[in-house]
Amino acid sequence: MNNVNIAKRLAREELIEMVPYQSARRLQAGSENNAKIWLNANEAPGPGIYQISGDSINRYPDFQPENLLNAYADYCRLPVDNILATRGADEGIELLIRTFCKAYRDNILICPPTYGMYTISAENHGAGIIEVPLLNNELDLDGLAQEVGNTTLVFLCSPGNPTGNLLPLEQIEAALALFGQSAVVVVDEAYIEFCPQSSVSNLLSNYPNLVIVRTLSKAFALAGLRCGFTLASTEIITLLSKVIAPYPVPGPVADIAVRALEKPALTQMSVRVKENNILRAELADWLTEQSWCQRVFNSDANFLLFQTQDKDFIFNALTDAGILIRDQSKQLQLDNCLRISIGNKRELGLVKQVINQAFNQALPQPEQKQESKQKQQTLSEN
Ligand SMILES: *Cc1c(COP(=O)(O)O)cnc(C)c1O
Repeated sequence: MNNVNIAKRLAREELIEMVPYQSARRLQAGSENNAKIWLNANEAPGPGIYQISGDSINRYPDFQPENLLNAYADYCRLPVDNILATRGADEGIELLIRTFCKAYRDNILICPPTYGMYTISAENHGAGIIEVPLLNNELDLDGLAQEVGNTTLVFLCSPGNPTGNLLPLEQIEAALALFGQSAVVVVDEAYIEFCPQSSVSNLLSNYPNLVIVRTLSKAFALAGLRCGFTLASTEIITLLSKVIAPYPVPGPVADIAVRALEKPALTQMSVRVKENNILRAELADWLTEQSWCQRVFNSDANFLLFQTQDKDFIFNALTDAGILIRDQSKQLQLDNCLRISIGNKRELGLVKQVINQAFNQALPQPEQKQESKQKQQTLSEN
């Protein structure tokens, strides 16, 4: 009896070769001690201040804690019946696939380059994947029209990850209309707090096939909490409620999430967003000025994507200095692209300094010495 192989013999075949989501956390496992600055997972640079109580921890939590749903309903201005609280937006994505895709029969549609979990969740469930790549970081509506009838779920990400830009509202509406009779269109608004006026939540009443996924992981600075929300028609919420685990939101998670949605924390969140947007604009300007940087992508989120012929040099220089960013160059259309989360002012100052120093050190000596000294002087003034 070969014990080693029993797991492989019994498991679903497609899982044997499947590669799990390469989260920033997994990729860097083990290097935690050396690394000081985390700019690779679009997390907030500092925590909020929350208190929790363990009072009712002997009891199972409510299926959907009423105070949490009320708090999010106030925040997103929708009725509680249109909201499902989940373990992060990722669980919302997974539930949608389990609800709307018959395993080994139905497909999801994605528009790469895009967020990796749509594919991972589809593979895990045995759903097929249709790709209609973005065109200049916008939707290819002709390409989408050709797939009407071939998919039950369409994932749009706005602002996009890792691209960073919003999709034009007219295009989202056009996609909703195209798939009006044949597919649920999911708009992933994980970063919508950085551009709140661009949410499509006001379209929910017009399009019964629209679903929005949200999270407290990004602008709310609560990635470790694992709390997200799915916004949809009551019919869709009722279906998702049949698929989700019976106690999806732990009591302490609900407690902290409720606090994060109260007025003082919401104000703090808006301040964080404003600071982020200022720092992002400054970093974008700086990157644009650099001769090694070929392109800076427009961003409405808490990260910037840029293209550089010196991708590995920059990535390694930062890593050596304990600064982690994300290499996106394996993604479709993103050759030589790096993604950097908008940390705080000090962290981004260090990023610039480390990159400048690395290039200065790489300059041929001694003819360039003069110039590199000058460069270093301007550096220390900033
Ligand atoms: C971070 C992210 C998520 C996942 O959010 P969680 O709530 O932490 O699971 C979903 N979609 C996109 C586009 C993201 O960037």
